[in-house]
Amino acid sequence: MKALYWDGQKLTLKASQPSPAPARDQALVRVRLAGICSTDLQIFKGYMGFHGVPGHEFVGDTVEGPAPFIGKRVVGEINFACGRCEFCRRGLGRHCAKRQVMGILGADGCFAELVAVPARNLHLVPDGVSDEEAVFTEPLAAAFEILEQVEIDFTHEVLVFGDGKLGLLCAQVVALTGARVTLVGRHPEKLAQVKKAGVRTVLLSDWRPQSADVVVEATGSTAGLELALAAVRPRGTLVLKSTVAEEHKLSLAPLVVNEITVVGSRCGLFPPALDALAQKKVRVAPMIEKIYPLSDGIEAVAHAGRAGACKVLLRN
Ligand SMILES: [Zn+2]
Ligand SMILES: [Zn+2]
Repeated sequence: MKALYWDGQKLTLKASQPSPAPARDQALVRVRLAGICSTDLQIFKGYMGFHGVPGHEFVGDTVEGPAPFIGKRVVGEINFACGRCEFCRRGLGRHCAKRQVMGILGADGCFAELVAVPARNLHLVPDGVSDEEAVFTEPLAAAFEILEQVEIDFTHEVLVFGDGKLGLLCAQVVALTGARVTLVGRHPEKLAQVKKAGVRTVLLSDWRPQSADVVVEATGSTAGLELALAAVRPRGTLVLKSTVAEEHKLSLAPLVVNEITVVGSRCGLFPPALDALAQKKVRVAPMIEKIYPLSDGIEAVAHAGRAGACKVLLRN
């Protein structure tokens, strides 16, 4: 099959990568669309020391696996848990110590014609959700994870830093709670995308320090992390959404003085995300910048890495 392959040094397009051989509990999915995410770009800088077929955001058709999924459009959760350890028994498979993560840790991903996924990770895509929307399920689920971890309601003031892909999703998802949400970013055209969701927006250059009950950091930069930390009110909560891979120095004293709760936040469950897409509560299609065929995957990855690029997709 055709696939992109990362050998730890270089990304190449392989015309005849061996097709995945699904294990007994796995399904085989023919990928329709895959999304290139910032995590993939980090991987191409050495993050996680990954080798193999990258990619973890996809929508596709099940070609092998349990009968209820065969021939159906599916998306798949990316953490492949062992199902037996202490975390798995507590329903925390996303934290399984023996987990593989699709395209990130020990398992081939979806920048390919076919991908193997544990059948229990699959979710059917509702009919009213297009492929171009469904491919956002994974990052949208990561935005919904905030609501699993932090209680937010209409009485709260929330600031989201970063108008990248994840920031745009987080701002829209948090706004669903009725909270007053402000997104701070650098790109007027991106900020405009969330205004319809009732999110207030401020250009970073116009930003005057103010404080909020909950601050979501989604800039992926050390500078953004500093701004976000400074904007949390005493006894407020700082939600860290981006994995800043570079090492950084940050004074932790303000956390103590202001008694701030810090919440690290990664992957989320798929059902709330699929539900929001089906009910058109979140707008994701405007985030698509360009769709490339898989055979132009190298060019697509270069495009996704350009400063300010929004979502770049690969189509089979
Ligand atoms: Zn991702
Ligand atoms: Zn486990």
